[in-house]
Amino acid sequence: MTDLRDLYQEVILDHNKSPHNFREMADASRIALGHNPLCGDRLKLYVRLDGDRIADVAFQGQGCAISKASASLMTDAIKGKTLDEAETLYAKFHDLLTGPPDEKATGAGLGKLAVFSGVREFPVRVKCATLAWHTLESALKNDKEIAKTE
Ligand code: ZN
Repeated sequence: MTDLRDLYQEVILDHNKSPHNFREMADASRIALGHNPLCGDRLKLYVRLDGDRIADVAFQGQGCAISKASASLMTDAIKGKTLDEAETLYAKFHDLLTGPPDEKATGAGLGKLAVFSGVREFPVRVKCATLAWHTLESALKNDKEIAKTE
């Protein structure tokens, strides 16, 4: 299991170094700010909706490797998805992170997001990994409004 975990960490480090969808979005229909005071992670999330579909999503900000990689992988995962699909994915991701540490996480249906399965052993890091998703939730709830998640 150690080797597999190392591999997972490599994915996280790669996304931290070269995050996907890390840019400003001029024509965003929703924008939200996320802040995780425990760690100091801050991010700004841009979403462009086309009906109930997430046509485009991007983010900017600064934070630890886990928060940044999580935002990067989230944008990849939800782009093109409907709001319902994104919500289902968030629920699965949340379960992955908050499940009992002694129970093996399967990460079924999560694709690359499963790389965060090791985070459940470090409860203080769970907020880093879920920050982007909290911010997404707030972006989808507040039309054109800038909200703080915590
Ligand atoms: Zn963090």
